[in-house]
This record gives sequence, C-alpha cells and structure tokens, in this order.
Amino acid sequence: MDRTSGLDRAHAHAVGWLASLAERPVPPRLGVDEVAQRLDPVLQDGRRDPAAVVDELAAACDPGLTAMPGGRFFGFVIGGTHPAALAADWLVSAWDQNSGLRVLTPAHSAVEDLAEAWLLDLLGLPPESAVGFVTGGTTANFTCLAAGRDAVLRRAGWDVAQRGLVGSPGVRVLVGAERHDTIDLSLRYLGLGAPEPVAVDDQGRIEAAALAAALEAGDGTPTVVCLQAGNVHSGAFDPFAAAITAAHDAGAWVHVDGAFGLFAGASRRHRHLVDGVAAADSWATDAHKTLNVPYDCGLAIVRDRPALRAAMGMHGDYLIHDAAGEPFDKVPEISRRGRAFPVWAVLRALGRDGVAELVDGFCDHATAFADGIAAIEGARVLNDVVFTQVCASFGDDDRTRAVVEAMLADGTAWTTGSRWHDRAVLRVSVSNWSTTGDDVRAALDALGRAAAR
Ligand SMILES: *Cc1c(COP(=O)(O)O)cnc(C)c1O
Repeated sequence: MDRTSGLDRAHAHAVGWLASLAERPVPPRLGVDEVAQRLDPVLQDGRRDPAAVVDELAAACDPGLTAMPGGRFFGFVIGGTHPAALAADWLVSAWDQNSGLRVLTPAHSAVEDLAEAWLLDLLGLPPESAVGFVTGGTTANFTCLAAGRDAVLRRAGWDVAQRGLVGSPGVRVLVGAERHDTIDLSLRYLGLGAPEPVAVDDQGRIEAAALAAALEAGDGTPTVVCLQAGNVHSGAFDPFAAAITAAHDAGAWVHVDGAFGLFAGASRRHRHLVDGVAAADSWATDAHKTLNVPYDCGLAIVRDRPALRAAMGMHGDYLIHDAAGEPFDKVPEISRRGRAFPVWAVLRALGRDGVAELVDGFCDHATAFADGIAAIEGARVLNDVVFTQVCASFGDDDRTRAVVEAMLADGTAWTTGSRWHDRAVLRVSVSNWSTTGDDVRAALDALGRAAAR
C-alpha cells in the first residue's frame, strides 16, 4: 500500500471544510444520533482503501461538524487554528515522533527548547522556568499543582514520592470562589479534596485582604494558593502583586490558572492585567485557546525545574544533577505527539508583534460586542470588559435563556448560555484569529433579532 494513500483526499476535504466556514451556519446540522445513523454500525471483516475510508468519514461527519475554527464561533473559550499551526500539525502526524526522549527526537527537543524560551520571554515569566507541553489547561493545572503539592510537603519534611499522602501533614488549598472547575478536578486527581474558597469581588477577582486573612488563620499546614488570570465569565484578573506577596509571606506555593488570560502578558496594551504574575511559582495556560494552535496543547509552567521533574519524572527525586533532563520529565505522559512543532510555527509566523495584535484584536472585538449589546433594548452587559469575555443578560432569566436559544437556532454565530452570580447569562468569548469586524457585526445583528422576538 502507498504510504500517502488518503492524504490527497484528506487535503481536499480539509480545504473544502475551511472554505465552507465563511458561509455555513455555525451550529452543526445534525445531532449525535443522526450522525451515528450515517455510519456503518458493523465493523466489516475485510480491508478498505485508506482514501475511500477518508472519503466515507468526511461525508458522514460533515453535517455533524460545528464551525468552531470559523470567525463567528464565540462559545465557551475556544481558540481557532492559525494556518501556520494547522499546517505544522499535519507534519506532526506525518512525522509521528514520540517526543518523550531527547536522543530519540532531536528535532522535536530542539524546537521544544526554543518554543519554551520564546514563550517565557513573550509571557514575561522567569526564564529559568520549565514548560511542559501537555494536553490542555486541565492537565496543565494538574501538572503544576502536583509540583506545588510535593514542594510544600517536601518543605514540611514529607516526601510524597516515597511516602504517599496517607499520614502526611496534609495540604491546605486556597482558591478564589470563582476559580475554574478544573482546579477542583485537578485537586481530586491529586488526592487533595475540595479547596477552601476565598471571597471575590463583583468581577470574580480574589480579595487580597480576604486571602491574607485566610492565610493568617492557617495553623502551619503546608499551603497552596490558586490564583486566576482570566475569569471565564468576566475575563477579570486576580490582583497578583498583593495576593502573591501575602501567599509567599505565609510560605505558600502560588499557582496561576491562566488558561486563556496569561497571554495578556504578550501585549503591551494588556500587560498591566498580569502585573506581578511573574512572582508566582507555577502557571497553567493553553496554547489551543488564545495562541490558536490546534487541539490538544496546554502549557504547564513551573519556575523550580527540579520540583517539576520530581513530580513528573520517572523517579520522583528532587536531587537529580543532570540539568537538561528529558522532555518526559515535565509532563504526566511518557509517549506523546510533537506538540511543540505547531506552537513554534505560530510563534514564528506571528512574531512578537503578531501575537500582541492577536490578543489586542480579541479584546477590541470583545469591546465592540459589549458596545453593540448595550445598544440592544433590554440588554445589559454585566462585566467590566477588560479582556476577551463579555457577559450579558436580556431581562429576567427566562428571557435571557430564550435569547441564547434563539441565537443558536439562528445559526449566524455561536454564543454560550451560562450562569454567573446566580443569574442566566449569555457569554461571548473572542478567541479566533480569523474573526473580523464584519463577523462581530453579523453576530450583533443576530443578537438583535434574537432579542426582538
Ligand atoms: C479552558 C479553561 C481551563 C481548562 O482547559 P482545557 O484546555 O479545556 O483543559 C481551565 N481554566 C480556565 C480558566 C479555562 O478557561
């Protein structure tokens, strides 16, 4: 069989799909059951030609695809795919490099080292930090918090790698009341149970004074503090300088969940939002959100390299001397795909100015959304729009939910229904390089129609 059999068909389908994004409705035409009916339920005995398989897959799936990479998808917080990253991602699969070991994949290791250095520089984070290329924000939070859990227990004289958690002094975890749910999930993976919520302000920012009081009330238990760069509803950023100082004064490890917001650091106009964030101990972010690389790519960033290696390396030892380490020392997996290739490609294609313009463009579109929504009768923007997120209501909860539904039925754009501060909201997230002013205007027209019904 020809090794490239099917690639031409995949290319044709990919080009067709990308070309369709400008015109097709954003929501899928068919649901799960209807797509399932288009697929042969029987696994046949014989072989099939790869090109025919690709054709069959594309034909069955097309009506069940959401136009997520298009410019009018504003749901959840979901990034687009920059062309350079998409093309490099195809090479990732063709090259098929298991990227865990330096000797096995010099090409990926060299690119990963470079991408690591560029990212730290761009985000304004300490240059000595390690960057683990993981599957997403959840795994990045998990990876960073594993390093933090082990570090605070090590300082208390307890080696988790040797002794586990049973009988340990325990770990107290303080979080803002509006942390992302994946923080709680990560803590469950880590055997740490539910965190202690600390009061937040009307934008969801942790109250530094409340954090300081909670830290002071501690009884010396090893402590981790989770802060947030980018609240999924308001886009707000925690007051890093004050919160990190208070946490470090109390001997805590400070982790920052910046899944989409950490990239504010790459923009001169928005860098003030992350003032002081570089003093933290670890940071989680997604490359598949604001940086617009394809799934799945998150970044687990830890200042204390040996701490990350002790948590994620094969041997759980803090005192390893070889400085370079292996790529698998920074992530939960041993085998993984070459995730650094698309990250390098988008950084190379955009450059410093391009990344800043990407971030600034998202924020400008979000501001335009907020202005447009405020002009719709009965609508109210509920957050201070400081970054890429807009949260709005259209009257009482029933009306807001009806507008969310009417938007989905209209199909022009995708926005998400959610609950924030105990009320139904419509949420807009701008996270795609290809969104234009026309896309925002088209979405606002659709919102106007939905609200007028
Ligand atoms: C999206 C998000 C996550 C989870 O990231 P995944 O890549 O979906 O795993 C965590 N925290 C915040 C603030 C997010 O926006």
